[in-house]
Amino acid sequence: MKRIIFAGVFTLIFITAIVLYRTSQVGPPPTGSDVKVDLITIDASETATHLAQAIRFRTVSTQDPAEFVPEVFLGLQNWMRETYPQFYGVVTTEMVDTYSQLNIWQGSDPSLDPIVFLAHQDVVPASDAADSGWEKPPFAGVIEDGFIWGRGAIDDKGSMIALLEAADRLAASGFAPTRTMMFAFGHNEEVLGSGAKTIAKLLKSRGVHPYAVIDEGGAITTGMPDVKGPVARIGVAEKGYVTLILTAKAKGGHSSTPPTRTAIGALSRAIAAIEAAPFTQKIDPVIAKMLNATAPEQSFMGRMAVSNLWLFGPLVTKKMKQTQGGRAMLGTTIAPTIINAGFKENALPREATAYVNFRIHDRDSVESVIAHVRKAIDDPEITISIAGGVGTEPSPVSQIGTGPYVWLADVVADVFPGTIIAPNVVLGGTDSRYFAIVTDDIYRFAPYTFDASDFSRIHGLNERMGVEDFARGVQAYYLMLERAGGLGG
Ligand SMILES: [Zn+2]
Repeated sequence: MKRIIFAGVFTLIFITAIVLYRTSQVGPPPTGSDVKVDLITIDASETATHLAQAIRFRTVSTQDPAEFVPEVFLGLQNWMRETYPQFYGVVTTEMVDTYSQLNIWQGSDPSLDPIVFLAHQDVVPASDAADSGWEKPPFAGVIEDGFIWGRGAIDDKGSMIALLEAADRLAASGFAPTRTMMFAFGHNEEVLGSGAKTIAKLLKSRGVHPYAVIDEGGAITTGMPDVKGPVARIGVAEKGYVTLILTAKAKGGHSSTPPTRTAIGALSRAIAAIEAAPFTQKIDPVIAKMLNATAPEQSFMGRMAVSNLWLFGPLVTKKMKQTQGGRAMLGTTIAPTIINAGFKENALPREATAYVNFRIHDRDSVESVIAHVRKAIDDPEITISIAGGVGTEPSPVSQIGTGPYVWLADVVADVFPGTIIAPNVVLGGTDSRYFAIVTDDIYRFAPYTFDASDFSRIHGLNERMGVEDFARGVQAYYLMLERAGGLGG
């Protein structure tokens, strides 16, 4: 008995020692690199004016292709050429899928793989109505209170215009890249992404294997629940996407003599069954690295937990599961989004359909999601089909801590000293998903700082970009381009 107690106490002391040791190994928060980097001088009000001008082109994407207005896109493109003559003077511009732009700035060393920067010209709709809830009209391009207001200020004219601002200045300086740099500006990211998809296929057909692809999807956040200070969240992976259409059929007829199985009843049971069978939710290697990276800014307890996931993993998982964002990071999500059935209160519909959207975690696939759903429903009379005929698999995971990640992290450290840099999984979809056919190293990150309270502005009301944040973003892109273009093998 004594021996057992002794062994127990010994084990406890041993585990405690490991936990405390690992906690103590967490370094201090970053202070930035020792080498002072000279950033280019930016006239913040001039760059802000340019973004405001770009916002005024209503390059809106809606689900209905008939609503696409070619003139607006051509107007924006003409404006881009006029505003950034140095850039368009050094690149060759190819129009792809009619309205998407592939700009190639040829490097002197053809043996180096090119780097590709993505951004999109289109935006999601926004209402001009006085009662829409917008504090400034969404397409007026108002600069007020230190912000550039309007639809696209962040997503994604913020990125596209900042890239152009940076590249135009770099071209004006006489810079001649060693590595080829490509700037691909899709025109329908928010709906189909056919522009970016066609560009990716074109690059593949030419045998191009990019060194890295940079796109939207991550930024520097402040005020997050886990870490209040700034964290640069570099999207090293993106979840997959599929929408399944469930269809239940039944006998129609008068509602006074219903059969035991009705279409609406069967479909409702199916949806409830899917929601009752969630996918596996646990911390994967990317999330573990993210948690580890944020450890220095966490409370002692948080630091102890995330630096000892071997012991506290289940506890951390439980905490993450309490938030919608946390759950989405841990596994494949289930979201019933559309339901259709019935037309008359006293008639039984012969058919009921539902759309259920899934964002697929790396450990699942389109096929495994369908299998999971079929098993959960357990009703052979419900048919399952894929909306649009095709889903998107989860992306590969890009290098973390090596390769292009280091280049990007170094730029962030130099332009935003004191910022924690952490890998992240992007929960939405970006154009970069199509580039998985040409490279594994895709980084979804735009160099802007947003507070957690601002996230709802993206695709929501009152989208805006800080004037100073935008100028800082241009400085960051400039450094990215200068270093990427000048990189050796
Ligand atoms: Zn976007």
